[in-house]
This record gives sequence, C-alpha cells and structure tokens, in this order.
Amino acid sequence: MLSKAQEILQRYFGFPTFRMGQQTIIEQILSGKNSLAIMPTGGGKSLCYQIPGLVLDGTALIISPLISLMQDQVDSLVSLGIRATYINSSLSTMEQQQRLESLRFGVYQFVYVAPERLESPEFIRALQSVPLSLIALDEAHCISQWGHDFRPSYRSIIPNLVKLQRLPVIVALTATATDYVIQDIQELLNIDEEHTVNTGFARENLSFHLLKGVDKYDFIMDYVRSHLKESGIIYTPTRKWTDQVYDWLREHHIPVVRYHAGLTEQERKQAQEQFIQDKATVMVATNAFGMGIDKSNVRYVIHYGLPMNIESYYQEAGRAGRDGEPSDCYLLFSGQDIELQKFLIEQSSISDEKKHAEYKKLQEMVSYGHTHRCLQRYILDYFGDLAGEMECGRCSNCRQDGNQVEMTKEAQMVLSCVKRMGERFGATLTAKVLKGSKSQKVLEMGFHKLSTYGLLHRYTEKDIMNFIYYLAADGYLTMGDMKFPTLRLTPLALKVLTGEQQIWIKTNKPEAKDSTDYDETLFDDLRRIRKVIAEESHLPPYLIFSDASLKEMARLLPDSEQDMLQIKGVGERKFEQYGERFLRPILEYIQTNGPVEKKPSVKTSIVMEKKADENPSYFITYQEFQLGRTITEIAHERERSPTTIAEHLFQAYKEGHELNWDYFFSGEIEQLVLQKHSELEEKKLKPLKESLPEEIDYTIIKAVLVKNNLLA
Ligand code: ADP
Ligand code: MG
Ligand code: ZN
Repeated sequence: MLSKAQEILQRYFGFPTFRMGQQTIIEQILSGKNSLAIMPTGGGKSLCYQIPGLVLDGTALIISPLISLMQDQVDSLVSLGIRATYINSSLSTMEQQQRLESLRFGVYQFVYVAPERLESPEFIRALQSVPLSLIALDEAHCISQWGHDFRPSYRSIIPNLVKLQRLPVIVALTATATDYVIQDIQELLNIDEEHTVNTGFARENLSFHLLKGVDKYDFIMDYVRSHLKESGIIYTPTRKWTDQVYDWLREHHIPVVRYHAGLTEQERKQAQEQFIQDKATVMVATNAFGMGIDKSNVRYVIHYGLPMNIESYYQEAGRAGRDGEPSDCYLLFSGQDIELQKFLIEQSSISDEKKHAEYKKLQEMVSYGHTHRCLQRYILDYFGDLAGEMECGRCSNCRQDGNQVEMTKEAQMVLSCVKRMGERFGATLTAKVLKGSKSQKVLEMGFHKLSTYGLLHRYTEKDIMNFIYYLAADGYLTMGDMKFPTLRLTPLALKVLTGEQQIWIKTNKPEAKDSTDYDETLFDDLRRIRKVIAEESHLPPYLIFSDASLKEMARLLPDSEQDMLQIKGVGERKFEQYGERFLRPILEYIQTNGPVEKKPSVKTSIVMEKKADENPSYFITYQEFQLGRTITEIAHERERSPTTIAEHLFQAYKEGHELNWDYFFSGEIEQLVLQKHSELEEKKLKPLKESLPEEIDYTIIKAVLVKNNLLA
C-alpha cells in the first residue's frame, strides 16, 4: 500500500519525496493505527491524511475548526480531480441537504466539517450510512483544555463520534503541543505513544529577533519602508493599537490593511483578501487574524507587543515563511506590555485555576524577553522539544555582537539576597533591598538589616530588576507566576554561589532613542533636504537617511564628519554622498541656538551595564565581605593587606552601610576598649593599644572606635 501512497504523492501532488514524518504517519494510518502527528506549521500535515484518504476505500471525514481553510483545501483537492466537499454553516440549508444526500450515496472521498457538525443527529446518521476510510482532526490542540486555543465544541467531538457504530482509524494533527496537550490528545483519542510522530518544532527558515527599548514607531516605519515589496503581518495586543499602527502606515502611503474583531465581517473579509492577493503588503491585526490563513509568502511577522504565551507567539510568528523561504520574526519587547497581559488575564472570565496557569505561561513569555540564550532553542525547550541544534545561529541572541561582561559577583549578590529574604518575594522587592531602598516595605520587613542590603546600590532599581529577570530567564531562579511572583533558587543557582559557574552576560548595543527630545524644526529642515536629494537621485527618501537617523541628528547636533559618523545609519559612503548637505543646516542651527547640551543618544540598555569600574575599591571589598568571605580571603584575592581590607569595611560603614561588628569583637572587648579609651587623656591609638591586652590588635581597636564614632 505504501508504494501506492508514493505513487499518489507523485501523481496527484507532484512531489518527488515525502517530508519528515509524513511517511511514518501515512504508514500507521494505512495499517489502522490511531496516530498523532506533531509537525511545525508548513510541515505538510494535510498530505498525512489526504494520501491515506485516497488509498483507502470509503469517505474520509476531516474535522477542522477553520471554515475559511476548508474551502481552500477542498478547492485544491477538486482541482486535482478528487471528489471532495465541505458541509458547514456558510452554505444554505438547501445546499447542506444536497451535500448530505451525496454523502449518503458515498459520492465523496473527502468531507470537511467543523466540530459542531457532529452535534447534528442527521449528520451522524448520514455518516453511518457510508463506509468511512478515516477521521482526521486537524488543529487537534483545540481539543485540550491545556491548549492555548481550547474549543469546547472540539471536546464534544469524542462523545459524538462514539455514536458511530463503526469507527475508522483516527489521525490527529497539530503544530503546537506541550506535553500536557499531547497527553490529553493521546488519551482522548486513544492513541499510543508509539504512534505519536513528533518531527520537532524547529523552523529552520525563521530568524527570531528580540528588540528591547526600541522606539516602536521608528522601527516599524523603517522596517516596513525598507521591505516594501514583501508581505508582512504586524500583530498588536489590542484593537486600539491595530487602528493606530494602521493609521501611521496609511499616512505614509504604505499599502496596508487591518483586521480585528471590531470590524464588520465584510471589512475583515475584504482586508484578508487584499492581503492574500498581495494587493496590500502589510496586515496590521490583533490575534483574531491568522487562523485559517495559508498565505505562504509572508516574509516577516512583527509583534508590536508581548503575546500572551509562547504557544500563541510561536503560532503567530510561525505564519511567516510557510513556503520555506528565509523569513523574520520580530518581538518588540517592553515592560509595560506585561501589565496589559496581566490585566487581560485578570479580567477574563476563566476559573482561578486556569488564570493561575495563564499567569505561569505569561511568565515564560516574559522570560523569553530576557533570555540571552538562543531564541529558537528557548521556544523548543518550552515545548520540550529536545531535537535540533543548541543554537540556531540565526536569531538576534545568536548573532549579537555586543560584548560579554562577567557578572558572577553581582549574580551571587542577587542570589544570596533572594535566599536571605526567605525565597518569598518577587523581583521588585528584591531589587529594592539590593539597591538599599528605604521604602516602607523594606524597613517593615527588616530587610535593611540583611547583609545583602544595598550591595548593588550603584545600579538603578530597574537595572537590578532586569538582571533578576535575566537570571530567571536563564534558569538560575524561578519566578513563581506573574500574579504572585516569588523568587526561588534553582540547583543551577547553587553552582553560581559556590563559584562553580560563572555568569557572563551580553551587553546590548542599545537601539533605543528618545523620539521626543530632538528639535522638530531642525528635523523638518533635514527632511526637506532629504526630499530634494531624493528627487534629484530618483531614490525613495528613506534610502537616503531614515527618519531615525534624521531625528538623531536633530537631537545630537553632530558638527563634524567624525560626530556625524556616530549617527545611526550614517556610514562613510553615505557621509561622502550626502553628509555635507546635512551638516550645513546643523551648523547653522548651532550658530543661532548655541550648542545645546548634548544628551546621550541612547536610553539605558535593558541589559545592566557593568559599572564595576565606577565602584570604589572599598565598596568592592564590602560586597565580598557581605557575601560571607573573610578578611584574609579578601585580602588574598584583592592582593591587599588585611589592614587595608578592614579599612575598606570601616569606610563602607562610614558611608552608611551596615556592618556586622561581631566579626571583629565581642561585647566584652568593646566595653574594655571603650573604658580604656575614656580613661586616656591623649586619645591616640598607640597608648590605647598599650593599655590593652596583647591579643586586642589595632584592627579590633579601630573597629570599636569606628562603631562608636570615636575616631576623628
Ligand atoms: P501544515 O498543515 O503542516 O501547516 P500544509 O499541509 O498546509 O502544512 O503544507 C504546507 C506546504 O507544504 C503546502 O504548500 C504543501 O503543498 C507542501 N508540501 C507538503 N508535503 C510536501 C512534500 N512531501 N514535498 C513538497 N512539498 C510538500
Ligand atoms: Mg494545516
Ligand atoms: Zn539562535
């Protein structure tokens, strides 16, 4: 029978060979084994049931949640001379009746229906009157409550199918399935583990990019304009944003359409058609768009905000490159989006248990935004897909050219702080403690007395938080869920604390810029010049310089070739061609307005920049001491004398940091030193030392005096 399958592949579909997984699944179906096929989007799942449907006698029933896709599939089968149809609510009652009638007579090789159809007794009766070759459940993850796309109507397929007296072989197909979902499908449909074929989820033609702190408007404008000929989807988290982004692009004469549930069905249909037919190259949409869209030449998918979970993200981003050509997926990540997603979960009407699960998934999505690991790998790990490379080599993390900085010490500080706080609090409070905040909560809890209090005071709270998120993303901490975040150490954290494992992080070259702090008149002047040049050279303006470059010029006021070359998007060649013409108005501007105070061109990067160089030596000592090292150890490591190290600690104390005095002296010794000190006429160290027992050394004496503010 397999040779027959092979022949059909070539004769009907015109493909020389099977793709990964197809042959195994087809073989299993042909030998009557219920099967589950897990293959990535575009992997060729349809053929897995279409070919057996042609080999076996009888009618194949295909259950699919997507009415829009049914038509496509049926059309393409019919065009191959195959008897196929669909029966769904888009047809008139009359048509439905006619097709049911034909079904009863065994006319069709394939019948596509939505899950609800099985609730109709009439339909079940019709099915009972014909031999069935197989039943295929496309998008089978919809059957599982654990899936991100659960549909109750899908669940009820099972009791309805049982009504059939003779059940044929069943095949379930999906592109997204976590362990839970896989188990669920297997149990519900009676599929053995050994008949589950998982080809892995890796999409080798997709490159994932994570952009943090970018001006989203600038990015989208630049990107869309420099990819005008390519088809792309921009997903936004809300309808409002869909409208907004759509308006921006339209104002810039981009052939764009939009899609969200707030539009009429007519409007949506039209938008979809224009996009599919390449009349509009850009689709701006909420997640309402995409199910049932098989457009294969989508070259990029941009997520304007954070998706709800990795499942949705991978599915939406995965709409790029179904044709196997290289395509790009961008996630524009910003912290505020997290709040929106939390809000959406909170106000949804799902059960508390389900909410809890959603918060957890959101947490994994947020961690994606903080990981320094390969992005494709991160996603595959999420799905428990062990196959594939450790690093894709294509994603923005794999390709990052930023410097690596060692942050082991800082990581130890964070981890031991989490530990000392009892592993009961989230990133926000932990960051406050490490920062040395005097906030009420910190003081109330007594956290200002922890040895890790204020250890990272040179960083901003935000930087510390981001660093904590990074540590969580890469597996050193768990975060709990989004609603009740509690940081906990993982076994990996212990390796860091013992120094067995180092932490290196990549510093981003921040692409961020503030879009409001440039001079708008100057920006307009620069744009006018660009327009003139564009007309002279018959080039679109954005090819001369991007808006972003011009804005940066209007902000930083570069007044020399050297400064100009620092502007993003100004290379030597560009400068040679156009530089002088843009320099001129800037110089004029400086002449009339004076050289304004130049602001740094970039916002702080999400990644914490190493600031150890600015850390005074005494504070480095203090940090080590607080982490539990002895003075001798620190002295050895830092190549200083123990006396100097002690001096460092005293200085830290004078600067307002807590110090554990028990390390230096007991209460009795303190009393003794104080007593002798008060008896002395000349308050000098030497006579004091001589008046005390031998074993009380200078460091101890000094410690007592520092603690009691008796040292000038
Ligand atoms: P999925 O449902 O897994 O997302 P489809 O079944 O829609 O994927 O198939 C995606 C594309 O791959 C289609 O254009 C299909 O014709 C093509 N395809 C499927 N199997 C093969 C094969 N063996 N050789 C070449 N192309 C294939
Ligand atoms: Mg499919
Ligand atoms: Zn990668």
